[in-house]
Amino acid sequence: MTILYDYEDSLYINLTNKCPCACVFCIRKETDHVGNSDSLWLDHEPTVEEVKKEFKNFDLNKYEEIVFCGYGEPLVRINEVVEVAKYIRSISNIKIRVNTNGLSDLIHNKKTAQMLKDNIDAVSISLNAPNKVKYNEVTKPKFGEKSYEALLDFATDCKKYIKEVNFSVVDEINEKEIQESKELAESMNIPLRVRHKN
Ligand code: SF4
Repeated sequence: MTILYDYEDSLYINLTNKCPCACVFCIRKETDHVGNSDSLWLDHEPTVEEVKKEFKNFDLNKYEEIVFCGYGEPLVRINEVVEVAKYIRSISNIKIRVNTNGLSDLIHNKKTAQMLKDNIDAVSISLNAPNKVKYNEVTKPKFGEKSYEALLDFATDCKKYIKEVNFSVVDEINEKEIQESKELAESMNIPLRVRHKN
């Protein structure tokens, strides 16, 4: 099974396949791997010790950043994210980023952004839409109506504790919705990246 995999200049950590969403554009519906990686479907969620052991197979000097990413929502395992990030910090100064759907507070039923303080350098949050109706249409979160507001609250909290916070949308939504997403992101002082589907 694939715990760490590299793609372009980044090294990715695959901690879980669990996710409370079912995004219409989710890559997991189309393929089981990214770049040259083997299958990203895990036969079990790796322990922190297994992740640490896996790092011995990679030269961190080759990468610009390490990213907690999929195949799933990494913050489902936020305690392990923090522990692994602490370990990375102990062996390297490399930038550490988390790609997240921003629903961690609902997953854990508490405020969670502060847990990432000091251990994570950057958080990329999937905004996905300029309002909750569209958000629920494209993201299909299991938490329903309250999800979008929770995401915005999480992003606001991240701004307090994390050096670099970004939003992203996928061009699955139309031009007008992308523009509205940009305006919302701007009003929160968070840069927005538009990703192309596939
Ligand atoms: S949040 Fe990410 S992993 Fe989860 S369904 Fe959406 S794209 Fe897929």
